[in-house]
Amino acid sequence: AIFVKQAPTEDKASWKEGEAVPYSALAEAFTKIEATTKRLEKLEATTKLFVKVIQLTPQDLLPCVYLCINRLCPDYEGLELGIGEGLLVKSIAQSTGRDVARIKKDLEAKGDLGLVAIGSKQKQPTMFKSAALTIRGVFKNLKEIAAMTGNKSQERKIGVIKKLLASSNAEEPKYIIRSLEGKLRIGLAEKTVLVALAQSVVLAGKKGKELASESLTQELEKGVEIVKAVFSELPTYDLVVPTLLRAGVQGLRKECNLTPGVPLKPMLAKPTKAIGEVLDRFEGKPFVCEYKYDGERAQVHYYKSGTGDKAKSTIQVFSRNSENMSVKYPDIVEQLPRCIKEGTESFVLDAECTAWQKADPEKGLPARLLPFQELSRRKRKDIKVEDIKVKVKLFAFDILYLNGKPLLHLDLASRRALLQKSFEPVQDEFDFAISKDLTSSEDIQSFLDESVKEGCEGLMVKMLEGNDATYEPSRRSMNWLKLKKDYLAGTGDSLDLVVIGAYYGKGKRTNWYGAFLLACYDADSESYQAVCKLGTGFSEEALEAHHKTLSALEITTKKGYYDVGEAKPDVYFEAKIVWEVLAADLSLSPVYSAAKGLVDHRGISLRFPRYVRIRDDKDPEDSTAPDQIAEMYRKQAVTHHGGGKGDEDD
Ligand code: ATP
Repeated sequence: AIFVKQAPTEDKASWKEGEAVPYSALAEAFTKIEATTKRLEKLEATTKLFVKVIQLTPQDLLPCVYLCINRLCPDYEGLELGIGEGLLVKSIAQSTGRDVARIKKDLEAKGDLGLVAIGSKQKQPTMFKSAALTIRGVFKNLKEIAAMTGNKSQERKIGVIKKLLASSNAEEPKYIIRSLEGKLRIGLAEKTVLVALAQSVVLAGKKGKELASESLTQELEKGVEIVKAVFSELPTYDLVVPTLLRAGVQGLRKECNLTPGVPLKPMLAKPTKAIGEVLDRFEGKPFVCEYKYDGERAQVHYYKSGTGDKAKSTIQVFSRNSENMSVKYPDIVEQLPRCIKEGTESFVLDAECTAWQKADPEKGLPARLLPFQELSRRKRKDIKVEDIKVKVKLFAFDILYLNGKPLLHLDLASRRALLQKSFEPVQDEFDFAISKDLTSSEDIQSFLDESVKEGCEGLMVKMLEGNDATYEPSRRSMNWLKLKKDYLAGTGDSLDLVVIGAYYGKGKRTNWYGAFLLACYDADSESYQAVCKLGTGFSEEALEAHHKTLSALEITTKKGYYDVGEAKPDVYFEAKIVWEVLAADLSLSPVYSAAKGLVDHRGISLRFPRYVRIRDDKDPEDSTAPDQIAEMYRKQAVTHHGGGKGDEDD
């Protein structure tokens, strides 16, 4: 259902055409959005705000959209919010003249720094009224804060936050603080903002009778479809918003496509627990099995710009999270031109980057894949090619763009043919993912065994032909299945979970945390849901290292958006660290809150969880989602009836 009605507004915030949009207009919309749980009402409030901004001050639409999704720029530019509790507490204290200790006490009582900021302001005597905040001003300040590094950056950040708080009124301090924390928590999903954006662009140009016309609903639906499709290919508001304002929805479709230099969210796979499940899914349709390499996803972009003397070619490597990794992998940038065949002018490759050991003829050792741990030893930044110890090899498995044309709508068989035509293997540097088109479960089983023997995690199995074989950006698709050998007997897949708390160690482990509280992330409610207590799988060195990282992230009290059920850890952390975890199986739990209500009124927990590794290529918000956990639970219930007894937290 789509919002059409344009009721007269009863908003308090108003401004004149061309003037900067006051921040109070946004805070007012946020308050309405926060007050309802109905998605349609959230959509309506967002759309109304956007329509008004487009009609009066269109140049403020971009910062307005960014503030609604609480981001500062496209992911690949790497500027992020997520200011730690300590700094925010200090800023609130200094700007309101209250003690840090008092603020912390309030925080323990209220559990939300945003509310603490409002409360603190109310206690503050008003000396003089400063100029009202504007959307563009707040957005600029947030960007400045996120970009501050180095010497005295803490003080400088506090300085800007203090100014923002001093000029804020009513509900504004709450949203400013929550924006800075990186969790707005008004239940406004990015999907909804995108729909509101599409609708508001259509609606802003309509008057009187046009708003009541019957064809409007269709026009809105079409607009939403186009904006969503374009955004999945070109996920940057910096290009999409100005184009929408200038050329409308139809113009957007014509002008904006997948563009090298702007990474798209990769297609993801569904886990499977058995080869039989794979065969059931593909029902006799052609599919391909590929080695599932154990490295890091690499989306490689290549394009040329300028002409004559100014002509230059650019190579960029993006991570699973659209982070620019070109500085981490200068060797890929250096190696890549050698595998590009003549006639290949621009492209976007989907590939896995793995640690690689060259052959050693003297010792008679063949070249081989190295485990993921070797890759994770590489430093993240400032690497010179000559200092690199761990070599990497790229295994390409898909091509999304070639010579000026997006290929997402072609099927995998056609994309694969183009991939193989446009590149050539280079020893120790580049190859195509090893693949076989198989049909029998015996053949799949032996290919799976072979992949594991070669150092892979298992297989990826993909639909080859027809409409189900297109590339689906950001989708976890049934058309790509993962078959991980190690996990077939357990949950079918490992889980990536966020460390939100810890328990002090006993015996040998008294110096460090002895166990941890892990959570999954629920994007709809913007909350972390506790899923298990984890204390096994760690070496002593790992425990020491984790203690070092995590103790710096300790916070005063549980965040309002941590839903921990009955779990009672000794300390809580900022949600920053993601770990990969294996489990024997999943069970319904009266203690933990993960996926509560999805299969049962109880939550779901992991039985015999075991630490595998740090996942620093995943943000906390990319950790395993409650519906994935529910799906894993349901699948296992089908395989072996029920999920064991509920477990307890001590
Ligand atoms: P997910 O991406 O499903 O959340 P994840 O990041 O933990 O999970 P896996 O579950 O291990 O990753 O599986 C998907 C990943 O496998 C891809 O993101 C990619 O990095 C890697 N991969 C390795 N080989 C291939 C291949 N042949 N085709 C697609 N992906 C591959």
